[in-house]
Amino acid sequence: MEFDKFRFMQFTREVYVGHGVINKVPDVVNKNLMKGNVAIITGHNTYKIAGKEIADLLEDASIENSIFICESADEENLNRVNAEIKEYGAGIVIGAGGGSKIDLAKKTAYNLNIPLISIPTTPSHDGIASPRASIKRGKWSVSEEAVMPISIIADTYIMSKVPYRYLKAGAADVISNESALLDWKLANRIKGEEFSSSAAAIAEYASKELVERAHLIMPEVEESVWLVTKQILASGTSMAIAASSRPASGSEHLIAHALEMLAPGTAIHGEQVALGCIVSLFLHGKDWKAMENVFRKIGISTRASDYGINDHIMIEALRTAHRIRPERFTILGEVDLSFHAAESALKITNIIE
Ligand SMILES: [Zn+2]
Repeated sequence: MEFDKFRFMQFTREVYVGHGVINKVPDVVNKNLMKGNVAIITGHNTYKIAGKEIADLLEDASIENSIFICESADEENLNRVNAEIKEYGAGIVIGAGGGSKIDLAKKTAYNLNIPLISIPTTPSHDGIASPRASIKRGKWSVSEEAVMPISIIADTYIMSKVPYRYLKAGAADVISNESALLDWKLANRIKGEEFSSSAAAIAEYASKELVERAHLIMPEVEESVWLVTKQILASGTSMAIAASSRPASGSEHLIAHALEMLAPGTAIHGEQVALGCIVSLFLHGKDWKAMENVFRKIGISTRASDYGINDHIMIEALRTAHRIRPERFTILGEVDLSFHAAESALKITNIIE
């Protein structure tokens, strides 16, 4: 048979991570702006934290720019901001914020075919360095194809200003690569899904680094932000190699997405993922207790009630999570778990009482 395999990978060209790297914005823009102006997508809060500083830095360097304030990453906001930025004639889009602003910027860059610079204000999840964007269409929020940022500017000083809850959630998101990788290997064995050992090795490395350094992840220490952000970037690289979120997103993410829909406004992404990771490791027959200890060390609870999620909702999330992305095969299988099976898995793992 003729050899006809091929892959497509997109990588970030320049990454700046560390104290004060926000000052690199004008340089990075100058190197990558071929024509037009600079559009900065940010939110009300993130404008104060980083958006304004970015605009001022560009101003000082005589680079024309405009701020586009957005809140949630939904279809309506995306369409509005796409039209405005197209009209403005932007040659580069900067996403400055947490999850939703970066997602909107990633998808805008994809739709308008212009480069994206990602400037995260929180290390709360691994989307800041991935080629995927979560956009809410109707009531569903699913990860879609977008662009890999041409540059990532992750200023640890700026990110150390957000509450510790976001940092530990970001760490949990990366640590949970462990269950995602078990699911990927399972899908490879059962479904023949393509598996990339190099992507898996990097995703695993990112998780292990944080597991080993869990005792160093603590509040109000900029170096903790540095530790977590480096592994968020490694996790993003694994997704770039796989050209998919597979290495970092399995059953634990399906459960997290189900919780987001069934119990909105309770746990944040990394916390939901941690709950999913524990039960996923249990279903895979792995050492979920060791993982519970790791999460405890960084201050992440794996009790649903600590987030205000009631037992029934947690059970429902576990039972039905597989429906969210039927093409993504995981240990959760392809049919709903029975109520009793889900309840007992969650009770054994102390997620519910
Ligand atoms: Zn995640």
